[in-house]
Amino acid sequence: MSSSRIHSRTRVGIVGAGPAGLMLSHLLARAGIDSVAIDLRSREEIERTHRAGILEQDSVDLLVGTGVSDRVHRDGYQHDGIDLAFGGGSHRIDFRGLVGASTYLYPQQDVFADLADARERDGGDVRFGVTDVSVDDLLSAPVMRFTDAGGAAHEVRAEFLVGADGSRSLCRRMVPEAERRQYFREYPFAWFGILTEAPPSAPELIYNHSPRGFALISQRTETLQRMYFQCDSAEDANAWSDDRIWTELQARLDANGHVLKEGPITSRTVLPFRSFVQEPMHYGRLVLAGDAAHTVPPTGAKGLNLALADVRVLAEELERALTTDDPAPLTSYSERALHRVWKAQHFSYWMTTMLHTLPDATPFDVRRQEGELASVTGSAAGSTYLAEAYTGWPGGR
Ligand SMILES: Cc1cc2nc3c(=O)[nH]c(=O)nc-3n(C[C@H](O)[C@H](O)[C@H](O)COP(=O)(O)OP(=O)(O)OC[C@H]3O[C@@H](n4cnc5c(N)ncnc54)[C@H](O)[C@@H]3O)c2cc1C
Repeated sequence: MSSSRIHSRTRVGIVGAGPAGLMLSHLLARAGIDSVAIDLRSREEIERTHRAGILEQDSVDLLVGTGVSDRVHRDGYQHDGIDLAFGGGSHRIDFRGLVGASTYLYPQQDVFADLADARERDGGDVRFGVTDVSVDDLLSAPVMRFTDAGGAAHEVRAEFLVGADGSRSLCRRMVPEAERRQYFREYPFAWFGILTEAPPSAPELIYNHSPRGFALISQRTETLQRMYFQCDSAEDANAWSDDRIWTELQARLDANGHVLKEGPITSRTVLPFRSFVQEPMHYGRLVLAGDAAHTVPPTGAKGLNLALADVRVLAEELERALTTDDPAPLTSYSERALHRVWKAQHFSYWMTTMLHTLPDATPFDVRRQEGELASVTGSAAGSTYLAEAYTGWPGGR
């Protein structure tokens, strides 16, 4: 331990100040519990990263109901359904009609900005742009070490530590192999994601199945749109001209009668697909939340929502653990969170395999998928399952 370190204490140390870390810090503060959250990236860098766009009703209620911000109601777009396009036509899944729920198009950067503003407004201790992060003493008196953005070295001792440090989590790797189980699935494709300065091509999301591969038409604002198409995981995004991208996207949509509104492409990235869960989501006095514990392929729009659902439960269980100075409630957190995580894993896997074309797909495989999509859209039971899972299982279940 270096003597030049600044030593301090807090009740909960949070590694990672993305949506999971910041929302947890906010919920703990509402319960009168101090925390320190740290992040390797600067606030500006996080705000520039384009990621999720769809919030479930429960996520919106958490943001608004706990006083983070009600901006989602002003700047977000309520979506009451999605289109499943396949087999030469388009079929709307009417969320509101089927399950009385909606989703909201509200970019993750806005969720993050609302949370970071709320923490600043309420005097929260959040340190962005830190380096040299390490964690230690996880079984007894956990400690978080880091160098802050100004170069000062810190050691923060906490009663509990939370690893909310995303899909490449350092905290997750601190759990000994004998104490955890890891579940993986890799997919033989990725998404080519673009942002384009164009008007919306459709009022709601279009999930488009075609023999050329999957495409998703999403939105951001009246003048900025987000679109994706299935590609090879090794694809080089910079090797694609705007023309080539529009030709490929339109060819996939043509099959089902949709016409895209084109514009200049301002961002292009290839996003790998992975399903992953680490169980249990705790070890000693360390807990994992959000992408640190689990990732889903983005087809079901579940990642950000799961991160928020985790910390809603975690804040409750941490409060109990702090009151009794006993880590036992962390087991309850892990069990409650994993119940939802595995339902979301199944839904994300199901949507992915129903809509994407495997590299070795035969005409039989494509026609079988069309049969599956027809079964879902042609049946109240099938459509209701999709609507209920997509909008989120209500009440944190
Ligand atoms: C392209 C794309 C599209 C997506 N679309 C959707 C969608 O439509 N709907 C949806 O619900 N989800 C979606 N997701 C998933 C969603 O973005 C993630 O699930 C969500 O960000 C998880 O939040 P988190 O707080 O757990 O992790 P993150 O947002 O990854 O935050 C973790 C933070 O920890 C920090 N960190 C990492 N390591 C350390 C360390 N050692 N020390 C300190 N800090 C550290 C990182 O800088 C980061 O800020 C998408 C993801 C991608 C990539």
